[in-house]
Amino acid sequence: MPLTAATAAREILTGLHEVMARRGSAQAKLDRVVDLIAAAMKSEVCSIYLLRDNSLELFATHGLRKEAVHVTRLALGQGLVGTIAAEGRILNLAEASAHPAFTYLPETGEEKFHSFAGVPIVRRENAAGVLAVQHAEARRYDDVEIEALQTVAMVLSELIAGARLVDGSNRRRQRHGTVRLAGLKLVDGMARGTAVFHEPRVLVEHTVAEDTELERARVYSAFRRMREQIEHMTREAEFGTAGEHQEILETYKMFAYDEGWSRRINEAIDSGLTAEAAIERVQQRTRARMLEIDDPLLKERMHDLEDLSNRLLRIVSGRLETAAKTGLNRDAVLIARNLGPAELLEYDRRRLKAVVLEEGSLTAHVTIVARAMGVPVVGRVPDIRHIANEGDTILVDGHGGTLVVRPNGAVSSSFDGRMAMRQKRRAEYAALRPFPPITKDGRPCTIMVNAGLAEDAEQLEAVGADGIGLFRTEFQFLISATLPGRDSQLRLYRKVLEAAGDKPVVFRTVDIGGDKALPYLADRKDEAENPAMGWRALRLSLSRSTLMKAQARALIEAADRRVLRVMFPMISEPWEYEEARALFEEQVEWARERKRPVPARIEFGAMLEVPSLAELLDQLLPRVDFLSIGTNDLTQFLFAADRADPRLAERYDWLSPAILRFLRRIVQQAAAAKVPVRVCGEMGGRPLEAMALIGLGIDNFSITPAAVGAIKAMIRSLDAAAVGARMEQLLAAPPRSMRKALTDWAKRQGVALE
Ligand code: PEP
Ligand code: MG
Repeated sequence: MPLTAATAAREILTGLHEVMARRGSAQAKLDRVVDLIAAAMKSEVCSIYLLRDNSLELFATHGLRKEAVHVTRLALGQGLVGTIAAEGRILNLAEASAHPAFTYLPETGEEKFHSFAGVPIVRRENAAGVLAVQHAEARRYDDVEIEALQTVAMVLSELIAGARLVDGSNRRRQRHGTVRLAGLKLVDGMARGTAVFHEPRVLVEHTVAEDTELERARVYSAFRRMREQIEHMTREAEFGTAGEHQEILETYKMFAYDEGWSRRINEAIDSGLTAEAAIERVQQRTRARMLEIDDPLLKERMHDLEDLSNRLLRIVSGRLETAAKTGLNRDAVLIARNLGPAELLEYDRRRLKAVVLEEGSLTAHVTIVARAMGVPVVGRVPDIRHIANEGDTILVDGHGGTLVVRPNGAVSSSFDGRMAMRQKRRAEYAALRPFPPITKDGRPCTIMVNAGLAEDAEQLEAVGADGIGLFRTEFQFLISATLPGRDSQLRLYRKVLEAAGDKPVVFRTVDIGGDKALPYLADRKDEAENPAMGWRALRLSLSRSTLMKAQARALIEAADRRVLRVMFPMISEPWEYEEARALFEEQVEWARERKRPVPARIEFGAMLEVPSLAELLDQLLPRVDFLSIGTNDLTQFLFAADRADPRLAERYDWLSPAILRFLRRIVQQAAAAKVPVRVCGEMGGRPLEAMALIGLGIDNFSITPAAVGAIKAMIRSLDAAAVGARMEQLLAAPPRSMRKALTDWAKRQGVALE
């Protein structure tokens, strides 16, 4: 075929356009189409196979025996045509019969043809059929010919969909079958839902252009916009956390300015396609190439290009909104490469059942927010956006960090079984709601929750908690694009206090900086290797006193004649506490002088999460109203083990004698000074750990809301004096595994641990 791809395809497309516009049956149109393609490509055979009832039926042919039409059928995966459809591949063979998948079809009379080329006809990313050409002469087809075939296949997909020749419900997906995937457990919980892509794929509706120059202009301007967006994202990222994200942006940038890519799209436009169809055509080619590539690094790059191609398609078609804007109409499992916390908050909480990310980490803001929303999250699931289709059923087990895409019956029912067990347990916990958390031997405990959003306070009653023991005020900062001003802080604190009613709320002043860096507060010189031990929390607040003053004023005014409870994070030495407290007291004076509302009284607390503070408790305790132990940070500093590093997550145990003895010392000193102690780290939300804490004399917990039922059940089945005695024995001569020793003991005693 001496023509260029563009002219060959263009000639066919013009003809196709006429055929499509004409009246007549779909069958007549297809018969006309195969003649047209065969003539334009000077091909002896041109055939169209369409997927019907899970097999590929010969629908129209030029060159094969007409009697075979609607008779010849191939299963998906069977023969060359079945392979193309099942795998979404292109086949280009000089000698068809030499291919291992070749199946001889005597009724077609194809024995005289040696060469074979076929491309999938793709609809909504699934094969809807196959377009094939054959020649008697044994030769491979040129790239230009294959491209022309792909272009034609695109247009055919529109014709076929318009004529409803393929039955959508019967269409088997290109990506099919049950797939089990493992990722990183980010937020616990189990969920079932339908896959929803955060950035939905655009379905190309019109493939043949009316005005090629207009289409070219549309693509040019879309490219310009896309480049601007990427430049903007790069600038933003420079202020935020670096790492993987930066690398992706670099790759995006490389492709966004890639001449080859824009040229191929332009060529596809030259062949008569619309801008959307041209982008999609080039993307299909990339996808087909991807199937041939083994190099994982290169594959990764190709996925980046696919991302960008989707972006371009969304820009050109003006469909830029995320799935949050369109709204979720069913229980959904949201799928994204990554998400920002604000983007997550845009989703309807009632419908959003789980999130699966290709990236994601334990301390990412989106994880913190999802945890607060009670939405299970599994992260680091590479390729999920290519494995799952929109609308697939997905089962997410946040506890195990696993998921199942398109579960089969057996997998689905075993998952449902486990979920029902959990629900049953939840129902049992819910039945405990009216009962107080009191041990069997009558020791009263307090169970509060950790929170960060206004909605959390509204849930207190439903959860059966005694209050909020840790309100992470930095959440508001993390989800805003700019520094929240005093008024917006005031509104939030007021809302929280009102929703909590008589139940106490302990506000922790902002714990930002370090890994919870805020782009608008970034100070380049403070970028540290070791952010958890860096310029964060109270350290930052004390040196940025305007920030802290604004927060203090907002809290003071919000409390308005009620008791205000505040605590300060990351105190290393008592003077830091004193300075923070003095700042609050000055602000009370300031408010009083201006006749603004002030609290009835303020209770000041210190978080104990830096080990050095434990050495100076004698100095600190007389000055505080309560102590709150942040075991998340405390253990990372005691063990010198980064809490965000998944490789260390299982290494050091919260039940190690080092931690338990350390905590015992704090509890004893605080008890002597009559200062109440609360544990507000994740440790307190686990039944066995909480049991050990009770054994140390702790009776006040602030935990994740989802754990309230389990902890209450444990407390109500426990003899506090007995666990105290057992802990004394064990800590005097620690066994190799405290965990095992405590589990055995709990089982013998009938303590409810799960
Ligand atoms: C802690 O460190 O244990 C704690 C409760 O605070 P955060 O997890 O917010 O650092
Ligand atoms: Mg902390």
